Amino acid sequence: MTDEQQDEQFYRDTESVAFPKLDDHQLSLLEPLGKRRVLKRGELLFKAGQRDVGLAIVLRGGLEAFEQRDGVEQILGTAHERDFLGDVAMLQGTSVLATARVTSDETEILHVPATELRRAFAELPGVSETIVKALIMRRKRLRRDREFAGLRVLAAAGTREGSQLDDFLDKNRIPHRLIEFESEQGQALSKRLHLTTRDLPALITPAGAPLRRPSLREVAQVAGLLRPLAFEDQSEIMSDLTIVGAGPAGLAAAVYAASEGLHTVVLESYAPGGQAGSSSLIENFFGFPTGISGGDLTWLAQLQAYRFGAKFSTPAQALSLDYYATDEYRTCLQVEGCSAVLRAKAVLIATGADYRRLDAEAREQFENMGVYYAATAMEGQLCRNETVIVVGSGNSAGQAAMYLSEGAAKVLLVIRGKDLSKMSSYLSRRVQVQKNIEILYQTQIRKMFGGKKLEQIELENTQTGERRQVRTPAVFSMIGAKPCTEWLPQEIERDDKGFIKTGVSVAEAPAWQANKHQPSPLETSLPGIFAAGDVRSGSVKRCAAAVGEGGMAIAGVQLRLASSS
Ligand SMILES: Cc1cc2nc3c(=O)[nH]c(=O)nc-3n(C[C@H](O)[C@H](O)[C@H](O)COP(=O)(O)OP(=O)(O)OC[C@H]3O[C@@H](n4cnc5c(N)ncnc54)[C@H](O)[C@@H]3O)c2cc1C
Repeated sequence: MTDEQQDEQFYRDTESVAFPKLDDHQLSLLEPLGKRRVLKRGELLFKAGQRDVGLAIVLRGGLEAFEQRDGVEQILGTAHERDFLGDVAMLQGTSVLATARVTSDETEILHVPATELRRAFAELPGVSETIVKALIMRRKRLRRDREFAGLRVLAAAGTREGSQLDDFLDKNRIPHRLIEFESEQGQALSKRLHLTTRDLPALITPAGAPLRRPSLREVAQVAGLLRPLAFEDQSEIMSDLTIVGAGPAGLAAAVYAASEGLHTVVLESYAPGGQAGSSSLIENFFGFPTGISGGDLTWLAQLQAYRFGAKFSTPAQALSLDYYATDEYRTCLQVEGCSAVLRAKAVLIATGADYRRLDAEAREQFENMGVYYAATAMEGQLCRNETVIVVGSGNSAGQAAMYLSEGAAKVLLVIRGKDLSKMSSYLSRRVQVQKNIEILYQTQIRKMFGGKKLEQIELENTQTGERRQVRTPAVFSMIGAKPCTEWLPQEIERDDKGFIKTGVSVAEAPAWQANKHQPSPLETSLPGIFAAGDVRSGSVKRCAAAVGEGGMAIAGVQLRLASSS
């Protein structure tokens, strides 16, 4: 089948989910939440770039949604009696990507405002299932549409700044196109908008206006990701729970907390999804026998959290945390770009860890397709009877090499330095005597090769400059991970690597000594502050574990809120 035929089949197969007709019962549930309006042909219902637009359900007549690009209109969808016009942006509160217009002489709609719509999603399962499924499917169809542009990034080919804007929009699931300045289309666009290389990268808004060299915050503003946490005259924002970090742990916590009625704010410094969001295929997450892309998994989790009313702001980095033990809102957070203080009764720290990445050409292409950060039974199977590479000289590298040597034909342990002094001596002895482990000192991986999966690497001996190629399906990067905790006060106790201690290991902390309660399993040395996922000392560094901890932390939060009230 050609790509075009596959697309056609996809559109046919998904048509009924993407464009359902609402039945009488669903309309009767929505009627009290909205307002009937009669509109005339040509009237605009909303414009691309607007946010918090409500849902328009057609009672009679017709509507259409279109994208206007460089003076040309592309019709994206039409709506007639019992259809509704909407996109996932309405669920997320981000900017809509299309403009909507009335197509019949007189059209009557039921307009459900954004705030009421979110309430309906949380409280009316009979309506929300149909609508949410449709909105998600419409977005999937739009992402596949080769004609649709969304936001456009114009950048010189191969520049870091252009790739960063592209990556930021991609990870935040905002439909967009990256257009190379040097291409025919790029040249035409830059001429029309009077853009020179000095203006690049440029972001072209849905209305066709260019933003020259925008910051990520400006891009987030245009895309509607950056929600103001406070009104202009507000100096404090209150929440039951503030979650810092929207990787799997933070997202799971947001779903549980919001669904249990806690007023939940989620701060994310780059893009929801965290490390998992950059994993092209997670094969060990339960319930997905053929694997699921980390981006898809975390995006759906994010939509679920929105549906229950969690409030997200991106990019919004938590900069500092102050603690007032006796106050109801015991924590004060300073947040990037926000002049008001965010006060919370409880805080969940789910900021994860930064895995150090190998500085080898084409490494990014093989993340999870040959480059791994953990060596468990699953990865072990991929390497059976093959030559595999472990990089690093610490205990985690030694343990991975020993473990993999059981099934692999050969393990090459690649070390930048001259010895194994960073490894515990018992482990280094075992590694050295294991017959199928070869230690390559003063060696680095320079390049990676392959198709969809890793097939070969190039090693360089940094002492002699000698290079050689090795065929391998897997490189295990064990060069360390740094927890994202530098913004926290020292009263939040950490282990010797900086990961946050919780539960019994903080029971002796001064704040608990002065407290009549015991810390719950994921509670830190400060009562009411919790940690979950990769940032927590002793955590498993797995997606499912992070999700489980995120959910479990909420049980502790509820307990603490109940004991403080
Ligand atoms: C390439 C790769 C592939 C992987 N593949 C798998 C796999 O196949 N299966 C599996 O089970 N696990 C896999 N993992 C591990 C898994 O992704 C992690 O264990 C999991 O993402 C941890 O979730 P988390 O929520 O604790 O942290 P993270 O996913 O790291 O999320 C933390 C979030 O916090 C944000 N943040 C940090 N500091 C701040 C701050 N001050 N303010 C606001 N936000 C902040 C970050 O931007 C980030 O989005 C993989 C990891 C990597 C790197």
